[in-house]
Amino acid sequence: MPTVPIHLSSVSRRQFLVQSTAALAGVSVLRIATAAEQAETTTLALVSDTHIPQTTDTVARGVNMTDNLNSVVREINALETKPAAVLFNGDCAYLKGLPEDYANFSDCVQPLIDAGQQLHMTMGNHDNIPNFYHALKAQRPEKPLVTSKHVTVLETPQANLFLLDSLMHTNIVTGELGEAQLKWLAEALDARADKPAIVMAHHTLHMGPIQEGKTIGGIADTAEFLEVLHARPQVKAYVFGHSHVWAHTKAGDLDLINLPAAAYVFDEAQPNGWTLARLSDSGIEFELQAHDKSHKNHKQVFAVNW
Ligand SMILES: [Zn+2]
Repeated sequence: MPTVPIHLSSVSRRQFLVQSTAALAGVSVLRIATAAEQAETTTLALVSDTHIPQTTDTVARGVNMTDNLNSVVREINALETKPAAVLFNGDCAYLKGLPEDYANFSDCVQPLIDAGQQLHMTMGNHDNIPNFYHALKAQRPEKPLVTSKHVTVLETPQANLFLLDSLMHTNIVTGELGEAQLKWLAEALDARADKPAIVMAHHTLHMGPIQEGKTIGGIADTAEFLEVLHARPQVKAYVFGHSHVWAHTKAGDLDLINLPAAAYVFDEAQPNGWTLARLSDSGIEFELQAHDKSHKNHKQVFAVNW
């Protein structure tokens, strides 16, 4: 069955359909309800590392990033089952989070908005929150869940999704969640212990010791972050981008899903594209939608069961 998103304060489905996505502006906790209360799955479109530049003809590593995002948007809009939401997992902007990058990004995603699609973004190391909010006004929360951070909770019938902000400084590779966000996360998870939780942020984890003078490419406070996640058995997976790699690994009991980049790859063997996620009562599946339909990993599924 198709799913439709509705506001937590529970406008009716009919109301939602006439109000359009603009009505969701400023809301950071959203409940995704299903058109049929008993729908068995919730689908989500996951798009990471779009790296949208200020001009539509900019090419990097042999890829036109604007063309790539446009093709993702067309594919999502052509899906038979409309996803309940489209989640962009950071590095929406090319490198410096320029206002012009987000103006182009906003143009690219407009067909999704026109189709009534609910959009959410996390912030990557190439993003800039004020410039992002300026171009995508509906994304600015009235009351941020964590001060100065762009954070969202999505409650679906099968699981809760926690969209975190690992941006430390624009165009600095290192990520950071910070004490305030981790404290909020622990409380937000504890308040929703009754359902499986999927945690998503842009950055990779940084395993192992932190070496003096060496740049950290992942989350600087990974140890503190993992402590919060491992202490709560409802947390089933951490979903991230940043490395432009499609992969499924583990950190103890926790499944780690690395989303592919929609933009360019750093390793030619890697696929680029986006991911279709299907949530059910027994787990979540991630299916690769490679740009290159002849790539050997196109339609590969990573499953996390519970
Ligand atoms: Zn990236």
